[in-house]
Amino acid sequence: MSIKNVSFFKSVERNFDKAAHFTGLPKGLLEQIKACNAVYQMHFPVRINGEYQVIEAYRVQHSHHRMPTKGGIRYSMSVDQDEVMALAALMTYKCALVDVPFGGAKGGVKIDPKRYTDYQLERITRRYTTELVHRNFIGPGIDVPAPDYGTSSREMAWIYDTYQTLKNGELDAAACVTGKPITLNGIRGRTEATGRGVFYGIREMLSIEEDMQKIGIAKGIAGKRIVIQGLGNVGSYTGLICQNEGDARIIAVAEYEGAIYNEHGLDMAALIQHRKDTGTIMTFSGGKPLENRQVALELDCDILIPAALENQITSENAPRIKAKIIVEAANGPVTADANDYLVKKGVIIVPDMYINAGGVTVSYFEWLKNLSHVRFGRMEKRFEHNAFEKLVNAVEKYTGKTIDAREKLILTKGADEIDLVNSGLEETMITAYHTIRDTWKANPKIEDMRTAGFVSAIGKVGSDYMNLGIFP
Ligand code: NAD
Repeated sequence: MSIKNVSFFKSVERNFDKAAHFTGLPKGLLEQIKACNAVYQMHFPVRINGEYQVIEAYRVQHSHHRMPTKGGIRYSMSVDQDEVMALAALMTYKCALVDVPFGGAKGGVKIDPKRYTDYQLERITRRYTTELVHRNFIGPGIDVPAPDYGTSSREMAWIYDTYQTLKNGELDAAACVTGKPITLNGIRGRTEATGRGVFYGIREMLSIEEDMQKIGIAKGIAGKRIVIQGLGNVGSYTGLICQNEGDARIIAVAEYEGAIYNEHGLDMAALIQHRKDTGTIMTFSGGKPLENRQVALELDCDILIPAALENQITSENAPRIKAKIIVEAANGPVTADANDYLVKKGVIIVPDMYINAGGVTVSYFEWLKNLSHVRFGRMEKRFEHNAFEKLVNAVEKYTGKTIDAREKLILTKGADEIDLVNSGLEETMITAYHTIRDTWKANPKIEDMRTAGFVSAIGKVGSDYMNLGIFP
């Protein structure tokens, strides 16, 4: 079968099949892991400007091998059953890969959020949530949504409020959705988690000299020339953190309205603020406009980070891609045929199922926080501070030297919620990177990092089914 123009879901299935035979799992079990367990397509009416509009929406639960299922909700005109199924399947493999104990799910509402007022979006979100509650497709132990393309903590707050209203008195109601505002049982670090996770993943990968030598680039993220597509949640935090904490150079950014370039590096904080203020990146004085948004993807650079939507690098533009590494911050940005072409050319493609797993990892922390009804760090922060202070005092006493007051403050700080979240995220991204790398190295027939990721993820889901005794 030609792999050109296959659907997004077929493309995920194809990646699965490429990896499946390396796992040694029985055929029937592989078929079960691959299948979407539950697909709920809905249509509901919402009154907009005095007229009724029928809204098409979905929630797909790909795998129930672990409960609850988990995955974002997308608001976009590209939403259809195939897309939501593909994204739900990716969530299963993503969660398995980073040891987040959920099955995969995804939701989608086929609307262009830019065409609605805040009030109208709230009505759509609340109506969608009501549908999910009525069909038992949402709940702390059932299915837990999160933000995705076109949604943010605001929509999650509406979902939480609607759920809580309909399920009055449910003690764990806050755990029905993640990515909520901090003041509404959210967690510090969730908004930037996906971008931060992308940074940790890139940094880890670039720290291994042996691997970087193979593609002819120097070790380390500092100074690397990066191009980013999409300055939404994922793209903006990826750029900001790679620049501020990794000392990388973001030489170009592409957005809906066009693309801009600066060889010395764009000031990401200023650029993000500029787009917030003016609605465009094109008038930003710190960069030069490019011909169109597509050419940014084809610039000479070390790392290309598509962080907008799927199907951005295709068989059409792949021959013009010059990046040595493509980091799939978005879900499915490289089509199956483009992937094969680029891998053969020696480009390393860091797969979505690994690199954008930071969001679901911190969502997992938020869910745990909601179930335990206590902020991370609340019990131990002061205890740690006191213990460190005793230690520092003892060092001063026995050495006869005084430690500088500022340094003392740093040394004796107990961990806050944000410290624990970021450290848990960093640990997760580093461990998962080495899981993929070890799988890849252990089997020289595996062609690319994506296949290695799938092998590892399928193995973990498969072992769950085996342990459940469903496939003895
Ligand atoms: P977002 O809506 O916050 O941002 C997406 C941005 O991409 C928008 O600013 C949009 O204008 C821009 N864009 C759209 N089409 C474009 C194009 N052709 N060229 C350039 N820019 C374009 O969405 P997000 O939450 O940042 O999600 C982006 C991707 O990351 C999606 O694929 C999503 O599934 C994936 N993802 C998101 C999260 C998360 O936590 N938000 C987690 C994992 C994966």
